[in-house]
Amino acid sequence: MTLVDHARSLPLGGAETGKPELSVDLTAVAANTRHFRRLIDGELMAVVKADGFGHGATQVARTALVNGATRLGVTSLAEALALRAAGIRAPVLSWLNPVATDWRQAVAAEVEVAVPSLQHLTALPAGTAVHLHLDCGLARDGAEPAVWPAPCAAAAQAQHLRVVGVMGHLSSADVPADPVNAVQRERFDWGVQVARAAGLQPQHLHLAATAGTLNDPLSHHTMSRIGAGLFGIDPLNRLRPALTLTAPLVSVRQVGAGTGVGYGHGWVAPEATVLGLIALGYADGLPRAASGQAQVLVGGRRRALVGRISMDMAVIDLGPGSSARPGDLVTVFGPGEQGEPTVAEWASWAGTIEHEVVTGLGTRPVRRVRSAGPGRQR
Ligand SMILES: *Cc1c(COP(=O)(O)O)cnc(C)c1O
Repeated sequence: MTLVDHARSLPLGGAETGKPELSVDLTAVAANTRHFRRLIDGELMAVVKADGFGHGATQVARTALVNGATRLGVTSLAEALALRAAGIRAPVLSWLNPVATDWRQAVAAEVEVAVPSLQHLTALPAGTAVHLHLDCGLARDGAEPAVWPAPCAAAAQAQHLRVVGVMGHLSSADVPADPVNAVQRERFDWGVQVARAAGLQPQHLHLAATAGTLNDPLSHHTMSRIGAGLFGIDPLNRLRPALTLTAPLVSVRQVGAGTGVGYGHGWVAPEATVLGLIALGYADGLPRAASGQAQVLVGGRRRALVGRISMDMAVIDLGPGSSARPGDLVTVFGPGEQGEPTVAEWASWAGTIEHEVVTGLGTRPVRRVRSAGPGRQR
């Protein structure tokens, strides 16, 4: 029996490889991209930072670009250069880099950069394409309004630079009723006016990310920067999650009432039951904080993870009399269509947000990709 034959003889999903498996459904990314494409009149920038929110930056970028995105956004210049190294030629913006970055690499690779300060602007070599970044009210990245006129004036004087955009970001777009949204929108409008009054003619005006784009058409301007939404992270549940994490049961055992499970005996069996082990732990991205609450799907039924999630493994209470066997498939999370937990449930069990779960997945699970095919424009 060859290895391939052996793999085929095993049951579904993760059990095909006999290993934990993370499958990425690019058809979901494609559908989500088209959803945003229909929602906005301006350009769509696909944000593929943090390895495409854990989904694979290059494959997500390609999928988004053939489904209506026209540009890509990342945090560091290194992330932008990795897209170029993979052969992606679409416009790319990198928005968070120290002053001492080797900006010549950005020019050479035709990567546009965001400028949050006069110091950054002064460090840029000839030919850099710039998006001036205004802090609209997060006190985080971008120039605060009090100093904003300085980089605008300097950029207008700098014949060797091209200012192609003005960008901002919203702190609270996920809470549409929050009055701070209007304040921040007005701050952005003011920032654009200041830039224009300085003599700049920025082509791209962009403020909204996923939440602003979904909740507030007034925030759209000429472009939306969409990250989370591409991956189905959407409080309204209209988008499709793209990740499924599965693992085969490594072992199964009967235990008696009173058996303590895992470090510190974080759970003690109240009655005789059957326990199953999977080789996934917090090093693979199962949040330890979800211990005591998390569930998985085994044989079509929700089962509790019991005891503390450890670095490399977690234990499932399969229930008294369970007939589960080593090799049976466990679904840790997925889109939820078969009754399996979703990433959103994992996030709530861990007291965090979906973004942290999907970007925290480790490198050990085998990656499997469902391709989106050739794509469809608009
Ligand atoms: C991450 C990020 C985005 C994308 O935000 P989502 O809410 O994930 O769509 C957009 N703009 C900036 C500046 C970001 O850091």
